[in-house]
This record gives sequence, structure tokens and C-alpha cells, in this order.
Amino acid sequence: MKNIRIVLVETSHGGNIGAVARAMKNMCLDELALVAPREFPTEECMARASGADDILHEASVHQCLDEAVSDCALVIGASARLRSVSWPQLDPRECAELAVQRAGSDKVALVFGRERTGLTNAELERCNYLVNIPANPDYSSLNLGMAVQVISYELMMQSGQKTQSPVEMRELAGAAEMQGLFDHLEQALEDIGFLDPRKSDKLMRRLKRLFYRAEPDMDEIKILRGILSAAQGRKSARRN
Ligand code: SAH
Repeated sequence: MKNIRIVLVETSHGGNIGAVARAMKNMCLDELALVAPREFPTEECMARASGADDILHEASVHQCLDEAVSDCALVIGASARLRSVSWPQLDPRECAELAVQRAGSDKVALVFGRERTGLTNAELERCNYLVNIPANPDYSSLNLGMAVQVISYELMMQSGQKTQSPVEMRELAGAAEMQGLFDHLEQALEDIGFLDPRKSDKLMRRLKRLFYRAEPDMDEIKILRGILSAAQGRKSARRN
């Protein structure tokens, strides 16, 4: 997320810039570039940022779009209108996938247009891709802050998936460990007087289904078996 810059082109209302700063900070983005803002900073801008003023203090101000994105290897422009001219188009999720992947090694810019008129054709053509937030075809233009919110949310979700992947790579228990757990569970339930050995099949089937659904990993199996041993009053018991 450190390599992703939000660029606002000729924003008219200071309040919208504040709302953008807030949306960015909520979603863990912190680099804001302003191209010729009409009013900045204003009181309303600070008020709408509501605690995200650090982003406003550090925002860079530029004369033109080229200057704001000069160091970016990937530039994606957000447009409310689907263009008739063919230009590579992305939806917000595809945009986030591409941006987060590219931001691993390069600077990436996401460019948002003016409140009334959006981005000019020349500005859109300065972008490698366009991103469009699907909306009501008869009323497709979101407020600037809201548009930044939607795109930033997708960016955060995408970058989060990256950091979550080690969790997904946990070592799931194999068939032998699961069987060891079930045998131990059955014995422990008998030992504590919960299970009648003559009628254990039905309950054990349900419990197995529960544990299979949970897809426990090796550490979790150890924890569960530790609990069972403790319940049996034999913490050091080892049954397989
Ligand atoms: N009336 C303008 C929209 C301006 S809204 C127009 O028709 O282009 C201000 C900015 O918010 C837009 O330039 C765009 O960057 C972003 N935006 C608003 N709605 C959007 C949408 N549905 N998809 C993508 N970006 C959007």
C-alpha cells in the first residue's frame, strides 16, 4: 500500500479532499497528490478529514497530472462514464489486483477527476488503464470521496489477502492425526462418563463431521488432545 498514490485532479471542494483523506486513512493508504486544487487547505477540508489530517499535511501539490504521476510505472484513471473509445477497462477488483501486484516493485497512481466534469480525454489517455465502479446506468457518478472509498477498500482487501496467505499455508492435519483425535476423543468421552460405549457410533459420527468441517491444523490437533488429556486427568497420556 506504501507504493500506491491517490491523485485528485482539480478538485473544486476542499470538503471532498478531506473526505478522500479520511477514506484513504481508513483503508491504510497514505500518499495523496493534488493537481491544482481550487481550494486547499480549507477549514472544511480539515473538518471532513476528521483525524486524517496527517495525510493532508503530507499531501503534495502539483501543477499538472504529468508531474503528479511522473515516477509511476502504472497509472489507472477512475471514470464514471464507460468510454466509447476502446481503452483497457477494469472493474474495482481487477484494478486492485493489478495495482497491488505492481506496487510490490513500482509506484502506482490512481487518478480521480473533477467533481463536475471528471477527467478530460487527454488525462484518461495518460492512464494505462481505466477503472469504472459499476453503478446505476442512469446515475453512475459517485461523489469523489465515495469513489475513492470503494477503490481503496478493494486495494486494502487485495493487499490483506497477501498478508493472510501464511495462515492459509498452515499444515492441515492428515488422516492419521484426525483418526488419533477421534480415538482419543471417544476414549475421553467414555472416561468422563459422557458417552455410553454401546451407543457411541451416532455421536462420534456427528463429532467427526464437525471436526472435518473445521479442517484443524497440526497445532490445533495438539491443543484439542491436550484438552482431552487434561479432562481425563492424565495430562501426559499419549493415545493414538
Ligand atoms: N460528472 C463526472 C463525474 C465526476 S465524479 C463525470 O461524468 O465524469 C468525480 C470523480 O469520481 C470522477 O472523475 C471519477 O474519478 C470518480 N468517480 C465517480 N463515479 C465513479 C464511478 N462510477 N466509477 C469510477 N470512478 C468514479
